[in-house]
Amino acid sequence: TASALQGKVALITGASSGIGEATARVLAAEGAAVAVAARRVDRLHALRDELAATGATVHVLALDVTDERAVRDAVHSTVETLGRLDILVNNAGVMLLGPVEGADTTDWTRMIDTNVLGLMYMTHAALPHLLKSQGAVVQISSIAARVAGRGAAGYNASKFAVNGFSEGLRQEVTERGVRVVVIEPGTVETELREHITHAPTKAAIEERVGKIRQLRAADIAEAVRYAVTAPSHMTVNEIFIRPTDQA
Ligand code: NDP
Repeated sequence: TASALQGKVALITGASSGIGEATARVLAAEGAAVAVAARRVDRLHALRDELAATGATVHVLALDVTDERAVRDAVHSTVETLGRLDILVNNAGVMLLGPVEGADTTDWTRMIDTNVLGLMYMTHAALPHLLKSQGAVVQISSIAARVAGRGAAGYNASKFAVNGFSEGLRQEVTERGVRVVVIEPGTVETELREHITHAPTKAAIEERVGKIRQLRAADIAEAVRYAVTAPSHMTVNEIFIRPTDQA
């Protein structure tokens, strides 16, 4: 049905673009009240205005997930404003690809702080509420958590960490009714690669993806919808989605 999430509250990080924004649209269309978090609040306000016009309830959160205190405040604000928390989508992330040799190590710091620690802080802050609501945590991991490759070592480190954390978490909470879902997309057409600082790597990727039909952010949002609307006895633990053209 088109309102499978009526009465539910979802918090989505990195909702200002790409997969997070598409996920906010899909979950709102299913009837969930959505808390949308990111640093670019102007974009979140535009999204809120668009979704509110369709009757959705949207709560905007200015959030840098690397700031643990801000994370706690954002979860608190969501529960205060929307009354509960059923679904946490840990989507905020950066992909600063490049070789290990000569790497700008601040790229690694940003990836670990955002993709790993940010996701862990969010999960930690949300967990008491998810245990109460028998809710779900959805991690937007990556093909990079399954297949390591040259030029991606730092990003691989961050996404392998996401999968390891998530499996440990799953064993800890699944029998208490909290579902842990890991989604692993291949190449999706978003702003993600625009932030790569290593120019040759950025150019190589742009050339490579220009030749294939990339996934759309909405394709991944559909996977999130499938997982979070499944019956409560069923957990979709892992979904691996690649473009047909990505060998
Ligand atoms: P985008 O760059 O379009 O979106 C990334 C989002 O993360 C933005 O909304 C950005 O918002 C947010 N973000 C980044 N840093 C922070 C931070 N410190 N605090 C809060 N929000 C932050 O890329 P995608 O939609 O592609 O990326 C979403 C997720 O999907 C990432 O985890 C990525 O690793 C994963 N993924 C993407 C793939 C792809 O090919 N595109 C493939 C596999 C996985 P703002 O800058 O406003 O804070």
